[in-house]
Amino acid sequence: MPLASFRFYAELNDFLPLDRRQVTFVHAFAGRPSVKDTIEALGVPHTEVDLMLANGVSVDFSYHLRDGDRISVYPVFESIDIAPILRVRPQPLREARFVLDTHLGRLAGYLRMLGFDTLYRNDFKDEELARLSSRGERILLTRDRGLLKRSEVTHGYCVRETHPRGQLVEVLQRFDLAGSIKPFKHCLRCNGLLASVRKKDILDSLLPKTRQYYDEYRRCQACGRVYWRGSHYQRMQHFIAQVLDETAT
Ligand SMILES: [Zn+2]
Repeated sequence: MPLASFRFYAELNDFLPLDRRQVTFVHAFAGRPSVKDTIEALGVPHTEVDLMLANGVSVDFSYHLRDGDRISVYPVFESIDIAPILRVRPQPLREARFVLDTHLGRLAGYLRMLGFDTLYRNDFKDEELARLSSRGERILLTRDRGLLKRSEVTHGYCVRETHPRGQLVEVLQRFDLAGSIKPFKHCLRCNGLLASVRKKDILDSLLPKTRQYYDEYRRCQACGRVYWRGSHYQRMQHFIAQVLDETAT
């Protein structure tokens, strides 16, 4: 049986069994499988991979394994200039927009709160998530590796943290978003855009105390929900400050 050796770098090791992390290991294969199918069979979704070398030469996902190949697989580089080398994924998206898997509802709320365009429904099917990601140029966030292995998904990320707040910090760090936070931009309930609204136009929908103390309001252009800078806003500011603190460490 033909053999190839593999070495995965940095956080790609998260996807491997313990005895294959941070080491070169040998993999036996039949026929001439593509390197993409092979790395996914080894457990690593292709969306996590940015660069692959076969015997020291950069190759794309369609490369087919040969007996004796030495394959090195790298995640997205944050700071190393690899421009002359072939990157296997399209260019990074200019604006970070997301579509989230059904089990990431709390994270979706947090991302909207921070001003990121975030599609979420608790009943999206896998094929809908993949389509929304590829057609809308959205980064698909999920904890389901199988979903990221769908070929139409070009921008995706497997969230490692299990607690929503930790997930938020992880996503802000991974996509370098700390400088792009714009609270009060998206509706927390439906992701619609918020716009300023005159107080006199919404008086009827306000509780007496709110009407008395606040003069500035924003309204969701999609679902009509009204937002103002009340006590929940103070808590939100506090939460954002804490999260940014954690993101910076
Ligand atoms: Zn809304």
